[in-house]
Amino acid sequence: MSVLEKTSSAALMELENQYGAHNYHPLPVVLSKGDGVYVWDVEGKQYYDFLSAYSAVNQGHCHPKIVGAMMRQAQTLTLTSRAFYNDQLGPYEQYLTNYFGFDKVLPMNTGAEAVETALKICRKWAYEVKGVAPQQAQIIVCEGNFHGRTTTIISFSNDENARKSFGPYTEGFIKVPYDSIEALEQALQSSANIAGFLVEPIQGEAGVYVPHEGYLAQAKALCEKYNVLFIADEVQTGIARTGKLLAVHHENVQPDILILGKALSGGVYPVSAVLANNPIMNVIKPGQHGSTFGGNPIAAAVAVAALEVVKEEHLAENAERLGKIFRQELGKYIQTSNIATIVRGKGLLNAIVINDTEESDTAWNICMALRDNGLLAKPTHGNIIRFAPPLVMNEEQLLDCVSIIIRTLKQFEA
Ligand SMILES: *Cc1c(COP(=O)(O)O)cnc(C)c1O
Repeated sequence: MSVLEKTSSAALMELENQYGAHNYHPLPVVLSKGDGVYVWDVEGKQYYDFLSAYSAVNQGHCHPKIVGAMMRQAQTLTLTSRAFYNDQLGPYEQYLTNYFGFDKVLPMNTGAEAVETALKICRKWAYEVKGVAPQQAQIIVCEGNFHGRTTTIISFSNDENARKSFGPYTEGFIKVPYDSIEALEQALQSSANIAGFLVEPIQGEAGVYVPHEGYLAQAKALCEKYNVLFIADEVQTGIARTGKLLAVHHENVQPDILILGKALSGGVYPVSAVLANNPIMNVIKPGQHGSTFGGNPIAAAVAVAALEVVKEEHLAENAERLGKIFRQELGKYIQTSNIATIVRGKGLLNAIVINDTEESDTAWNICMALRDNGLLAKPTHGNIIRFAPPLVMNEEQLLDCVSIIIRTLKQFEA
């Protein structure tokens, strides 16, 4: 059989299974087309996408403005490396820094690279500005964190699956419970060598944990008190997902270092960025950090278009409004049912907790039934299902989705 004939879902899944490393456990559906809030499988069945590629596709699949910018730039100039200037990078850097209110940006490609970049900047700032003794810098992180997959980042994860057999681990990290101001202050008091506090404003991968109101503002104030950098990983929560441009804006916090990725490109291209003001960013000098593809012309053109779409189409306002309806409607249903215990989230980053153990396969089976009913979502941490549709959804579509979800959950009521 030639490769061209292997176009059924079953055949395509078998190809991935045989020739690809088994580092993911995908829901069995093979997608071949996307448009706005919809995706289609190779057999032509249409689905609502309720993952949005982990919030990379906030602007909707194949947004014509973003794809157009990419195609134009791809036919003009794709990559120069940073050995030379290019005509797209400067305007993008000016646009991005104004957009988020920082002096400077360091452009990278993936979220994990941007987190690594932020950690390096933070350490260098600690030694060269704060005056921490050589090799002694510590960065505070949160239990249950997800910041990516590099060796250093998994060193401070507490997901055994992500860590096991990948050691030796990078030193210099202190873990504190998420959403605990007391624990954070204790850690800040424990040593004069603390350089930064790295935090997700909502813990997405951990199961959409929303901290108590005031946590982020209080944490930021503590960081100021102890002269420690507040580093916000908004790779998943940023770019309008939670109903504001950034999730920290819910508490009027401006981070010292901001990490962006995913929807920075609307999901058409890997684009990430680290933003900071001059006293922090200026610790990086030529030759001290970089990336061949970071800041390339396609990335720059795509990111400007993707950010323009967020403003032009009022995606933050839409996420805020539809998110309230989503939680309200699912909340009403959950009260009448024993299948789920809670719906939580902000904007259009939400999750329900299924009333079963983390080891059970109930959430997985519900996601399979959702798929059959035309909606794609995936469990995170066993019994939690995250719901994060593209932010270009309208109210009618959202209510249609709510009814699909409730109808499906009813199939699982005891
Ligand atoms: C997805 C994610 C990352 C890693 O991004 P990649 O592009 O997959 O490397 C980092 N932090 C958070 C909060 C994320 O959700």
